[in-house]
Amino acid sequence: MDALFEAEFSPLSDSGRVLSKCGKCLRYMKHIPSQPSRLYCGTCEEIYYTPPKGTIKLYKELTCPLDNFELLIFSMPGPEGKSFPFCPYCYNNPPFEGIDNLFGASKSSGSVKLGKGAGMPCFLCPHPTCQHSMISQGVCACPECDGTLVLDPVSAPRWRLYCNMCNCLISLPEGAHRISTTRDHCPECDSTIIEVDFNKKTTPLKDGATLHIGCILCDELLYSLVEMKHGKSFSRHARHRGRGRGRERRGHSGRGRGNKKQQDPRMSFRDF
Ligand SMILES: [Zn+2]
Ligand SMILES: [Zn+2]
Ligand SMILES: [Zn+2]
Ligand SMILES: [Zn+2]
Ligand SMILES: [Zn+2]
Repeated sequence: MDALFEAEFSPLSDSGRVLSKCGKCLRYMKHIPSQPSRLYCGTCEEIYYTPPKGTIKLYKELTCPLDNFELLIFSMPGPEGKSFPFCPYCYNNPPFEGIDNLFGASKSSGSVKLGKGAGMPCFLCPHPTCQHSMISQGVCACPECDGTLVLDPVSAPRWRLYCNMCNCLISLPEGAHRISTTRDHCPECDSTIIEVDFNKKTTPLKDGATLHIGCILCDELLYSLVEMKHGKSFSRHARHRGRGRGRERRGHSGRGRGNKKQQDPRMSFRDF
């Protein structure tokens, strides 16, 4: 509804600015920010809708391995707004069937429809080999819903994970130089093993070492450094369930999870 309202009041002639390369003709496309926000390739005469209401930037000139379009980063407004990469082509033409959650789609309608801002960002992309997909950036199951917590690739220095479906937010060790996902999975909980390159000055490691690899749920050091937060609209919900941030952390018995049978990783954040 907001989008409709804004469409009526945005200027009709909006030439847009040159933003990113089209994967088909390899020429630059223009971003037209007025609602519905979109990219236009003048050579191919194609329109690609982009996520609504946020800022869009080029993502390190990386390209989508499926179609060669340059990737973009979308940032929602506000300090807790998510940022995520998306491919303009895949966003409008999800390359996989069975994606039943699209970003920006109205939740009331039963079937998901593309267009006018709704689409598939990389964090919903199930492609197994693309380094930007949910499969490679996903770390563990969301404690609040059926979504996946994915690494926000541009959240440095306030690194965080966010849920690809709800407003759940997990802050990671602040000030780290680099945090990235690896191809390995935790043998105990199946979360993606992450690699943290701490800042030399603030590293919690012995002898000034900076590199640490582990599971954020099972590695005691990492577990002690992560904190669960919520997006704005989620806080009341969280309090209702009685799991506020102020609650004392339970003693964590390290790797002694052995006798609990195959723990659902998404249950593990409930310890907070
Ligand atoms: Zn083109
Ligand atoms: Zn793509
Ligand atoms: Zn991808
Ligand atoms: Zn969630
Ligand atoms: Zn684990």
